[in-house]
Amino acid sequence: MSGFRREASDILDELDALRSADAPTHGGRVLSYVYDSGLAALDELAAEAARRVQPVNGLDPTTFVSVAAMERSVVGFARRVLGGEGGAGDGSGNDDVVVGSVTSGGTESCLLAVKSARDAWRAARLGSPRVPRLVAPVTVHAAFHKAAHYFGLELDLVPVDPATGTLAPAAIEERLGDDVALVVLSAPSYPFASLDPVADVAAITAERGIALHVDACIGGFALAFWPEPLPAWNLSVPGVTSLSADLHKYGYAPKGASVLLTRGRDRQRHQYFATTGWPGYPVVNPTMTGSKPAGPLAAAWAITEALGEPGFTELTAQAARATAALRDTIDGIEGLRVVGRATGPLLAVATDEDAPAGSRVDPHHWADAARSAGWQLQLQPGLVQADGTHLPHTTHLTVTPVTERVLPELAAALVVAADEVRGIPQIDGGAALAGLALALPGFDADGGASGLAALAAGGLDSDTAAAILGAAGLLGGEGALPDQLAPVLALVEALPGPLTERLLVELLARVVEPPAD
Ligand SMILES: *Cc1c(COP(=O)(O)O)cnc(C)c1O
Repeated sequence: MSGFRREASDILDELDALRSADAPTHGGRVLSYVYDSGLAALDELAAEAARRVQPVNGLDPTTFVSVAAMERSVVGFARRVLGGEGGAGDGSGNDDVVVGSVTSGGTESCLLAVKSARDAWRAARLGSPRVPRLVAPVTVHAAFHKAAHYFGLELDLVPVDPATGTLAPAAIEERLGDDVALVVLSAPSYPFASLDPVADVAAITAERGIALHVDACIGGFALAFWPEPLPAWNLSVPGVTSLSADLHKYGYAPKGASVLLTRGRDRQRHQYFATTGWPGYPVVNPTMTGSKPAGPLAAAWAITEALGEPGFTELTAQAARATAALRDTIDGIEGLRVVGRATGPLLAVATDEDAPAGSRVDPHHWADAARSAGWQLQLQPGLVQADGTHLPHTTHLTVTPVTERVLPELAAALVVAADEVRGIPQIDGGAALAGLALALPGFDADGGASGLAALAAGGLDSDTAAAILGAAGLLGGEGALPDQLAPVLALVEALPGPLTERLLVELLARVVEPPAD
């Protein structure tokens, strides 16, 4: 080949221009999605490590033996800091030893935990025609909804205390039966930062021989080094049979790395897929993909080598101090409250219903006000639980080590944002819905929500979905979010779930559809 069609520098300039429209990944202004250690040298090390394995195929660690060496090292580190050494039994038997895999992220770790538990459940009940059940508090990460959907389990969501977001162990116990393949708890949960009662539930599930996964995807590598004592939550609890923790969250690795640890070699072997039933190479995959990059693993390995326990301890202390300071700030803001007993470097913020109506602050208006000042908080919808109780809508903050450096500015912005929106009530979803129905071409406005529900039940085609999005003012841009997200979330809360899901699918699908030329 004589040359490139375009100059490399020109292409990279274009990439830089595209990137300039992204939310900032560093500097602490985005309080979700990104986990900034604040150490530029660590990012550089990770990038260089990833680059050096760029051509490697992680599919086959017997051909690319560096992959096996790095994975052993990372799994060993995770096992050490997540309570997987000693504790249960003598630590050396097939049933006791904790083994693991590096996966592409939290979702893959969660999917595999569910798949393994399902297959172990099936293997123990040869011929059972029953659909296995997955029991978890309603605060469990959506990755388990996805896992139940992909792997054919019934998802049995247990209500939590609507005021605090906490789970009563007895509520799980009531749901247990022989069809339960897996119970999942969070340490902590994403929506409310609640640390589920791992030891209490583990005592119950262990006695019944039911598998228990602890989803420590977000918090694992922070709680492992948390400066204050915590209730037992990790693999040091004997009944915990697997645990997930994301290297690309508080492991500070670039995206694409998580660890799934499993107690017992035999239990973990259910995670693998193997076949020799085709005329090609024997396929033996511990994770979902075939060919896979070694870059995220190499980056995560380099980071754990560079930081070690002392480095993680220091970074976690920074995030913990910043979290405590933000909690104090929010406690001092009239009309807002931190939900429940938030544990680890994240918080959810709700309206303080004890404040007089005129002093209340809606967390979504608050997030929008903070956003217009350059701070991106994450809006979370309210939810009606199976028992009819209502979980409040909230705003989520993920706090990272770098947050500590911007704390004075951030705290001031949160106070100002609350002052700007204090007394403005939560958007009335029903009214938003009626407005939407009115704006729909050819749609009977009297139908309102039920009319929209009927639409959804009938199955929406792509053009109808796009028309609804257009009427809501959500289609047409280049994929950028509108300035005000509170009205969008109000619709999300008011529309029937399946309809919202269908509309969001349409939105995301159209964002990446190339224009017709
Ligand atoms: C982030 C997260 C996941 C899913 O992880 P991804 O890396 O986004 O796939 C699962 N559980 C919890 C609690 C999380 O916070």
